Amino acid sequence: MPRVASILLPLPLPEAFDYAEPEGMDLGLGDIVVAPLGPQRLIGVVTGLKEGAGHNRPLKPVLDRLAEPPLPKNTLAFIQWAARYSVDAPGAPLAIALRGARAPRPKPQRLLFATGAAPARATPARARVLEAATGPMSATALAEAAQVSASVLKGLVDEGVLEARLVEPETHFSTPDPDHKHPALNPSQAAAMQVLAGLAEAGGFQAALLDGVTGSGKTEVYLEAVAQVLAQDPAAQVLVLLPEIALTQAVIARFTDRFGAAPAEWHSGITPAQRRRAWEGVVSGEARIVIGARSALFLPFARLRMIVVDEEHDGSYKQEEGFIYQARDLAVVRAKIEGALVVLASATPSLETLWNAEAGRYRWLRLTDRHGIAELPEVSLVDLRETPPERERWLSPPLIKALAETYAKGEQSLLFLNRRGYAPLVLCRACGEKLTAPDTDSWLVEHRYTGRLICHLTGFSMKKPEACPHCGAKDSLASIGPGVERVEEEARELFPEARIAVFSSDTMWDPEAAKAMIVAMEAGEIDILVATQAAAKGHNFPNLTLVGVVDADLGLKGGDLRAAERTFQLLAQAGGRAGRHERPGRVLLQTYAPEHAVMQALAAQDRDAFVAAEMEARQLSGLPPYGRLAAIILSGPDAAALDAFAQGLAAVAPNAEGIEIYGPADAPLALVRGRRRKRFLIRADRKVDLPAFLAAWRARVRVPGSIRMTIDVDPYSF
Ligand code: ADP
Repeated sequence: MPRVASILLPLPLPEAFDYAEPEGMDLGLGDIVVAPLGPQRLIGVVTGLKEGAGHNRPLKPVLDRLAEPPLPKNTLAFIQWAARYSVDAPGAPLAIALRGARAPRPKPQRLLFATGAAPARATPARARVLEAATGPMSATALAEAAQVSASVLKGLVDEGVLEARLVEPETHFSTPDPDHKHPALNPSQAAAMQVLAGLAEAGGFQAALLDGVTGSGKTEVYLEAVAQVLAQDPAAQVLVLLPEIALTQAVIARFTDRFGAAPAEWHSGITPAQRRRAWEGVVSGEARIVIGARSALFLPFARLRMIVVDEEHDGSYKQEEGFIYQARDLAVVRAKIEGALVVLASATPSLETLWNAEAGRYRWLRLTDRHGIAELPEVSLVDLRETPPERERWLSPPLIKALAETYAKGEQSLLFLNRRGYAPLVLCRACGEKLTAPDTDSWLVEHRYTGRLICHLTGFSMKKPEACPHCGAKDSLASIGPGVERVEEEARELFPEARIAVFSSDTMWDPEAAKAMIVAMEAGEIDILVATQAAAKGHNFPNLTLVGVVDADLGLKGGDLRAAERTFQLLAQAGGRAGRHERPGRVLLQTYAPEHAVMQALAAQDRDAFVAAEMEARQLSGLPPYGRLAAIILSGPDAAALDAFAQGLAAVAPNAEGIEIYGPADAPLALVRGRRRKRFLIRADRKVDLPAFLAAWRARVRVPGSIRMTIDVDPYSF
């Protein structure tokens, strides 16, 4: 009698489907299989096996089983936990976990080698090729490095100066060597590292907060803790999560240097072949160190012993689309399930994490000084009411003076403005219309490099029109407010000789470009860098001594719960880029609200005072971390139908103690891609099982096809 296999598919379905186990396949729990669904062939995971009975219809058979080891039990348990917490189907996180399973395998590559033979005829182009061909390289890479055409390479191959060979791709990961190097930690770093090593040795679930000022050497500390974990357990795997792809290359370089072997890399910027290789390395246990973005948390680790969440406060850990989750919180859960050590590192930890540390749930390790002789920068506030910039200008006289002094000393400056493009708003001076995308309630941002107006929310873009699309007035469109491109323009006018560059996700859309910019900055080839938060985090620029924050008040304007916390973190991090080496740094914050608690705390460098005040405010209102929060977003093309559904949903809300429901109200973005949006906010006491409440509520309605209902537990942008 054939057995019945329950197979969880990577789709947003409420449960696993049953299939027949073909004769001789001998499935086991966790096996990764191919199963038919309608006309599709999907990969899924065996979550149950039973003797076949009770089915009145013949079941479709499982088609195939993948050669890889089964999905580890802990990974499956984690996926199920995450789905329940996010009030979503387990197939959603499973899809993330299986993302590498079916990517194409790396193919052999044709690479060119220099044979050592001298070319019959020497030309400058040929000389450049020989200089660039230091190792095996693809023809494209070599042609680009030497700035020559393909025909030059072909000529050299014909002459036997270069030789082409098919090279098998690297499919394995070398084992990191904990003794490859032994960096000397300073006494406070060594003490923190010892505690982490002790926690790892004790075994079981352990959590620690590595709370150290910018430049205190947190990375150095966790590198050594990783070395200890690898030395303690020869099969241990370690995951290091980073908030930003732009940071991965620098961290990978540090790991490679420390352990003499490159770690596996996992984020949206890697190729399908790299994805396949990393995935196989993780599930087989061969990839011992993985450096990745938030989705790496769902990888099927064979033996995960330690997770580091670097810059744990960073909002990028919150995934807002598709399967919604907060990777920092889930990292703690994953560590619990695996019985592993989790280390949360930051100079400005989130209130949630500080709350847990204060309660003794996390070991709290503090590094209060920068490493070596580097001092924390001096922070001052520039009151824009007293020393305003000129009209239609954004840099105030004190900031311009500081830039001039820094430039004169041959040091670097960073002008920080968390706004991409040239101007955040285009306004018609004739009719007063603010230009928005046709189907979305958000302003179009002017980008001058590309001459386009772009909706940052949906990606809609159009050429900047000559006349106002509303009233038809000519030459009436005014660019209002600054973005990084506009600040760059101003800096160029002020310092025409200086080397100035812009770093934002528009200019740095691919990791290679970002890497090149970081190298140029480190090498001192840029005098003034105008940057969004893409450059404010994590980097180490030795000669950077001035950070000017163009609009310190920017983040405070949004009405959301974390506005003050986030502004504090972002500006403290941006300021933390200054003076990380011998030369002292300074930070100037341009603000219209110097008396605001955030500005005062930044100027006094008194994080603890800020945290205490913010905690008190949260406690008074029962907001996270003192309570829980969730949002339900409803969207649909038809306003009346959406309203009716929202009212109906409100009417069937279960009664529950310790829960307050606000709404339905228009969502802050009430129209996106032609869909109207309504929102409920739900606040709950900590003792309430909020996911269970939300699941019960949702089960009381049938959502019509035209309406989308998204549940966001612990919402970040609302
Ligand atoms: P953080 O992550 O806390 O901002 P990093 O680990 O990046 O700090 O360290 C800041 C700088 O100080 C880096 O250039 C790092 O190489 C250097 N550094 C930190 N600790 C040491 C140490 N013990 N020995 C030598 N250099 C160190």
